[in-house]
Amino acid sequence: MSVTIKSADEIRKMREAGRLLGIVHNEMHEALHAGMTTKELNDFGEKLIEKLGCRPNFLHYQGFPAAFCISVNQEVVHGIPRKSRVIREGDIVSIDAGLIYEGMHSDAARTWGVGKISPEAQKLIDVTRESFFRGIEYAKQGRYLYEISGAIGDYASSFGYGVVRELTGHGIGKALHEDPAIPNYRQSRKGVRLVRGMTLAIEPMINAGKADVVWKEDGWTVVTRDGSLSAHYENTVLITDGEPEVLTLVQGDSHGSGN
Ligand code: MG
Repeated sequence: MSVTIKSADEIRKMREAGRLLGIVHNEMHEALHAGMTTKELNDFGEKLIEKLGCRPNFLHYQGFPAAFCISVNQEVVHGIPRKSRVIREGDIVSIDAGLIYEGMHSDAARTWGVGKISPEAQKLIDVTRESFFRGIEYAKQGRYLYEISGAIGDYASSFGYGVVRELTGHGIGKALHEDPAIPNYRQSRKGVRLVRGMTLAIEPMINAGKADVVWKEDGWTVVTRDGSLSAHYENTVLITDGEPEVLTLVQGDSHGSGN
């Protein structure tokens, strides 16, 4: 396994890729409403990415048929946007998005409630988001990769939630998925030592019930085996010798920072 270290120029481009993706997420959150289909939400975001002069990196990735993964309720990740999937009040909707700016990738995910959602659903969304921030307390030069994994998993598990094991975060840069894989639960090994200039997509996927997931027949959509709700939160993060830089959060972003 080799983890790429980004040059100053690549980091500059990834900051921009991240900033633009943060804008895409905020705009899609504004657009999200009960009664629309997941396909309509996808098309809204795809047009916006094009307007920003970028390309969606999920489209055709290993054959994925859309620009975004949109996963509703018990769907964990990789939901395919569909004309037949109408979003309802009370749903929780995970939007996983990525784009390419001047050859460099960004990747981020958010889960939003639609209208009034149950307190249990809101708590799952909040804990999933917070688990990411617990994890990145260790995302700095000199720490070890699986310290991030352990902090995410320990936090989410402490609420009795199931931490998905089959899917991981990943390195990111010139490719959407680079080394290393980043699990979201405690490992017995330490993992690679983190070095300034690494860029990581850290993405807890947390189930309200058990951790087990299954793949649907479309070959993409991952759902909880027990039918419980699932939430996803992800950002592209730059490792520095100080605090990590979260590239896909727009500064002063009320949505990304907890509301
Ligand atoms: Mg990702």
